Order: sequence, then structure tokens, then C-alpha cells
Amino acid sequence: MPDSKHYATAVLPSRTTFAKPLLALPDGVQPYRIDWVNASVIGGVHALALLALMPQFFNWTAVIVAIVAARLFGLLGINIGYHRLLTHRGFACPKWLEHTFVVIAICCAEDTPARWVAVHRRHHETSDDRPDPHSPLAGFLWAHVGWLLVKNPELARLGIYERYARDVLRDPFYVRLERNFWQLRILLIQLNVFFLAGLVVGLLQTGSILDAIPIAVSFIVWGVFVRTVFVWHQTWAVNSVTHVWGYRNFTTDDDSRNNVFIGLLAHGEGWHNNHHADQRSARHGRRWWEVDTTYLTIRLLEKVGLAWDVALPRAVQETPGAIRQTGSQT
Ligand SMILES: [Zn+2]
Ligand SMILES: [Zn+2]
Repeated sequence: MPDSKHYATAVLPSRTTFAKPLLALPDGVQPYRIDWVNASVIGGVHALALLALMPQFFNWTAVIVAIVAARLFGLLGINIGYHRLLTHRGFACPKWLEHTFVVIAICCAEDTPARWVAVHRRHHETSDDRPDPHSPLAGFLWAHVGWLLVKNPELARLGIYERYARDVLRDPFYVRLERNFWQLRILLIQLNVFFLAGLVVGLLQTGSILDAIPIAVSFIVWGVFVRTVFVWHQTWAVNSVTHVWGYRNFTTDDDSRNNVFIGLLAHGEGWHNNHHADQRSARHGRRWWEVDTTYLTIRLLEKVGLAWDVALPRAVQETPGAIRQTGSQT
């Protein structure tokens, strides 16, 4: 952890002061060096999700598919697969199941497992200090999505994998996912699966292939584009919202918070202060109201013999409301 903070000269209107200096962006980041691949994908998928507003792509089956898929893909892919399993090793499971979670995570278009893990481990190592890839102390929108839209030379170096994701890349399956457009192939397979599912449902509902095609397209619009946008913002809100708003059970060397709304919306990922205080624990919710459906799912897997070595919360001393002095937003 760096022993001093570096602040830019811009000011951030915070809840208590209108002249709070922003944390400088990570070393080497220039706000106008756009990452055109990321910007195009993020902009493009948001634009395609707007097709949901067109009446010909609206039907309740597609809406239900989107809601169910958003819950499942976010929970199984990102929360369980990328976060609690690969990044923090909060439990272990059969390799085939781990790989399944990771394929589901790739369908969420949040980058490859090694890269996601590397970025997230760097976040934990340098939380709310200058090298943190997405601290809201450098700007709320920066933490939410801005950091994905510009090039970060630090994160582009191969050394980032060596330093933060060497264990992940010991598995040849994850090495393959880094190469030969496998990520893109999985995303395209996903589009076909949703289209075919929609086509079958459309045929059953209408009996006509011509009438079934708009229903098939609606499955892609809602089940893939709208759902991807939803899961993106859910993940991004953990980076942005839960380092700004909420309560703290523990004193941590960062501004992490427990946020009730994000906690419930993102299946327990919003109990973020608890998580920063005890990162390996597979269980983020500590109080009775801190419902953690991701942990409950891991418990269910454990009960049926598909998860073991589940890391339980350590006895970390609680210091409610405490906030570090440096760089806090209160
Ligand atoms: Zn984490
Ligand atoms: Zn955090």
C-alpha cells in the first residue's frame, strides 16, 4: 500500500465539502486516450439494448428471460465464478463446474478470467489509492465506467498477469481463453443459443417461422443486450457506489461501504466493507439483514457435494461507522 496519496488539482463536490481534491488517475492514464475496443463494445451494447423499446421486440416471455438470465448470469458467472472462486479462492469445486461458471462469466462480457482477477486483485491491493484501477475518489463516473473507456498502460502490461493472476493461468483452459478470440466465440455462441431458444418458443406460440423470427430476435435483445447492460451496471456499481455510500462495520484502509440497495440487487456483493475487511470469506453478509444470496448458493453447492473448503468469516473486530482519516469521502 503506498504510504502517501497523490491528488490532482480538480475538485470534487462531496457531501461535506465543495473543495475536496480528486485522487489522481492511476500512473500513465490519460483521460483522452480512448480504448476504442472497450468504448465501442460498451457503447454498442447499450445502443442495441435500446432496441428493447421498439414494440416489435417486446414480449413478456423475453422480459422474463432477461430477468432470470440477469439474476443467474450475474450470480453464477461474476459473483461466484470470477469473484469469490477465482479471485479470492473462497471455496473449491470440481474443475468442470469452475469452468462452467467461467464460461457463464464470459457471456457477461466482462473480459477474460485472468484479466478480471488481475484487475480486481489490484483493486484490493491498492484500494482507493492512486494505483487502484477504479476508485471513486478519482471521480464517481471514473469508477463506474470511465476507467474501462480509456487506456491504462499499467493494466496493459503483461506483468499484470504475472503479478496478479499467475495461479489462474496455471490452468490451460484459462490460457486458451486469452487467445484466438475464444471470448468472442463464446459471446457469438451465446447469441445463437438465445436466438434458437426464441425461435423454438416463437414457433410453439405462433406456429409460423415468419412470426417466430421477431420473438427470436427479442430473446437476443432482452436476454443478451438488456441483460448484459444490467449485469454490467450491477458490477460497476460495486466499484463505484459501494465505495461512496453506505455504512461501515469495519475499519479498513479504504472507503468501502455496505450498501443495502447494491447488497440486495447484486446478490450480496454490496456488503463491500465486510468484504474488504475479510476478503477470502465466501460469505459477505454478516448481519441478519445482510442477505447474501451468492453465499447461500455456495452453501447449497456445499450441501450437494459440489463445493468444499468454504472460507467462513474471520473474527474481525467490528468498529461500526469508523472511517479512515485519509482520503475519506465523509
Ligand atoms: Zn473482492
Ligand atoms: Zn472495493
